[in-house]
Amino acid sequence: MNTKCPYCNYLATEHETLDNQKNPKDGEISFCINCGEVSEYSGTSLIKVDVNSLDESTKEEIKKIDIAWLKSKGISNLKEKNNE
Ligand SMILES: [Zn+2]
Repeated sequence: MNTKCPYCNYLATEHETLDNQKNPKDGEISFCINCGEVSEYSGTSLIKVDVNSLDESTKEEIKKIDIAWLKSKGISNLKEKNNE
């Protein structure tokens, strides 16, 4: 299935999702490889999700994916500087 990012409208195929989800369930988290925003599955589409409303283990998971994504983009150093 293809999913469209609700933030940047990037159309991702299942091969492009970092977690390789084939049959996502409602409420499962998706991570946009284009803009790095977190969204959640609702039916066959993605909706925006407030990361702060998620539980701690999910936030940890997102953090790991976020780091992997930043590394793949080669901008992890940039992000660290911005957080200081
Ligand atoms: Zn996006």
